[in-house]
Amino acid sequence: SDSHFPVPTAPSEVDYASHYPHYYPSEGACDENGECKGAIYKPQSKKIQFADVGCGFGGLLISLSTLFPDTLMIGMEIRDKVTEYVKERILALRETNPGQYHNVSVVRTNSMKYIPNFFEKGQLLKMFFLFPDPHFKEKNHRRRVISTHLLDEYAYTLQVGGIIYTITDVEELGEWMKDCLARHPLFEAVPEKELDVDPVVKLLSSATEEGQKVARNGGQTFLAVYRRIALSEVG
Ligand code: SAM
Repeated sequence: SDSHFPVPTAPSEVDYASHYPHYYPSEGACDENGECKGAIYKPQSKKIQFADVGCGFGGLLISLSTLFPDTLMIGMEIRDKVTEYVKERILALRETNPGQYHNVSVVRTNSMKYIPNFFEKGQLLKMFFLFPDPHFKEKNHRRRVISTHLLDEYAYTLQVGGIIYTITDVEELGEWMKDCLARHPLFEAVPEKELDVDPVVKLLSSATEEGQKVARNGGQTFLAVYRRIALSEVG
């Protein structure tokens, strides 16, 4: 249950130093001129900008890490063992690829409860919901990670212009996610021609473990990509 993992009480309490030690060196690592051993950025200068919600084994994050080497990103995963696996995977990659993968981390949490504990208003540029659990039964729809109510929270944490990426191989869930997004006043569909040139879109299937499984089995996927718009843009 939730009591087994610590939850930050506010975004300012997220332990950046443990997630991104290269960006947030420990105290004592910096001299009086502000030069910090092992750090590549001024301490406290960067915030997490991408969140992979229900990241599973972390394939997407690993690909994004090198595609956006200056962006801090985090995976949120509720399963303890899976989170530990992703942690180890990132540490091993940092070890074998000096200077790389310092911008990526993972946290064990229940994203449906604690997103506002991790991110401030307008902090995120991208949120990913890739192959989420379908919760087929009607009485379990409230457990779906995309819902009108949760979209209010995601809209709050996303910058205007920020993007939500969703993909699934379950047609009914694809329709549901698209429908929730389309009906929400603070989101609008990203046009097809922008999706065609967005390098991230190709990764949604190819880089995720779930997407690879679907591709191996020749399954279809359903994509919904929406942009956070300003209240003044609401028509
Ligand atoms: N996104 C990954 C991929 O595409 O390979 C994993 C997809 S997997 C089917 C869904 C993941 O979401 C699982 O790893 C599950 O543990 C996680 N999950 C489900 N509910 C969650 C919640 N409330 N908070 C965080 N993670 C959750």
